[in-house]
Amino acid sequence: MADAPDALPRGCVRAFKTKSGQFVRCGSRVRSSCPSCAELYRGDWAAIARSGVFDARVERFRFYLLTLTAPSFGRVHRVPRSAGGRLKRCGCGSTHGAADAGLRGVPLDPSRYDYAGQVAWNRDAGVLWDRTRRRLRDRWVTGEFFLVREWQDRGVLHLHVLVRVAREEAPDARALREAARTAEAASPVDGTIVAWGEQVDAKVFRADGDAARTIWYLSKALNYVMKDTALAAMDGRGSNLAWVHLTELGRAARMMRCSVDCVPGECPSRVHDRYGSRSHVVSASRQTLTRSGWSFSGLTRGRQRLARAAWAQAQETKEPAPPSGEQQQDARAALVLLTRRIDVARMAVLP
Ligand SMILES: [Zn+2]
Ligand SMILES: [Zn+2]
Ligand SMILES: [Zn+2]
Repeated sequence: MADAPDALPRGCVRAFKTKSGQFVRCGSRVRSSCPSCAELYRGDWAAIARSGVFDARVERFRFYLLTLTAPSFGRVHRVPRSAGGRLKRCGCGSTHGAADAGLRGVPLDPSRYDYAGQVAWNRDAGVLWDRTRRRLRDRWVTGEFFLVREWQDRGVLHLHVLVRVAREEAPDARALREAARTAEAASPVDGTIVAWGEQVDAKVFRADGDAARTIWYLSKALNYVMKDTALAAMDGRGSNLAWVHLTELGRAARMMRCSVDCVPGECPSRVHDRYGSRSHVVSASRQTLTRSGWSFSGLTRGRQRLARAAWAQAQETKEPAPPSGEQQQDARAALVLLTRRIDVARMAVLP
């Protein structure tokens, strides 16, 4: 859905006019389509992430960063992310340096790689997360979550989750990790058991500079997921081999998730661009009658849109009528949002 009119509609490169003559944003979250709307999307989610840490008495909670990774579908080349790290020997026999970035995530033996298994895992990762979240809540009833799904180079989803638990029942990081790592789900499509891989990690973070750094890290992951597919996320360092790998994965996704006569480039379904996944890239647990949800202040993207619309309208009206209670609340929310934007911008310059 498109955004409500914004204070700066000119920022949007594809704004369109509604029947009532108002300009609305295109609402894209893909930076290459519209940098302004994509930035708004990132900023909105970063504000929601922060409002689950800083908008309450933080000493009452413990915070964790949980990382969940898919299992292996075949061995891939190991290429270090940055120069200077300790180099490990790759399964292909050589020791790669940063110059081999185009090999990162490429199978050692494409003929034996489990493409169908990987597409099925991407497809069922949403159900697996749902089971994992329920399991964590069965043990720690106060658990709330903020989740970013990122693409790994091999074309599989990878989850970063901020977890918050009330201090009186908060486990140590190891117990949280174990409860998450051992969660399983049955695929709703074919009944096979879906599970996480070995690389599952949980860390406690403090709600001070530590939290700012953790959210900055997540905000970076948000930038990355906004490129939307692993192929685009490779930023031009995609080699021929990586391209062949992801094309093969896309083909498997088309066969399994779309129809045999789907034409690449013409088919409107995004499911094969996303290697089988239909999950949202970012999500947060929502407020209910009995729960606060992730955001203590009940911040959602819908509310953020309303706040922007209210602010834009207030700018247009020269002699505003006395604001209603709801409008006052919206205006306050807009102000909080603006302050957070500045905070987020400041965080972007942290090391
Ligand atoms: Zn736009
Ligand atoms: Zn290698
Ligand atoms: Zn298709």
